[in-house]
Amino acid sequence: MNGKATRFIIICIAVICLGLLAMRLSRMRQASLQDKVAAQQAAPAEMFYVGSKYDKIYHNPSCRLAAEINTGELVTFTSARQAISKGYRPCEKCRP
Ligand SMILES: [Zn+2]
Repeated sequence: MNGKATRFIIICIAVICLGLLAMRLSRMRQASLQDKVAAQQAAPAEMFYVGSKYDKIYHNPSCRLAAEINTGELVTFTSARQAISKGYRPCEKCRP
């Protein structure tokens, strides 16, 4: 094996490793909503709504937009009334 071939193989391995690492990171970033809620509450309520600190909109936990809320800005409510009393409005997509 000459030096060029060895270098090519090393580069291939590095690219594959980086690819796997990127896949792993993106999967970690897509932690499920349930995980995010569980991380925030010791005992998640059976029925709850979720919202973002920033946009002041609350969602059903199954909402696609709810899944996009980052862990750091996620807030949970045990009822729609609680969400509204804190100044949140219902999402127009999932109509909680
Ligand atoms: Zn929604």
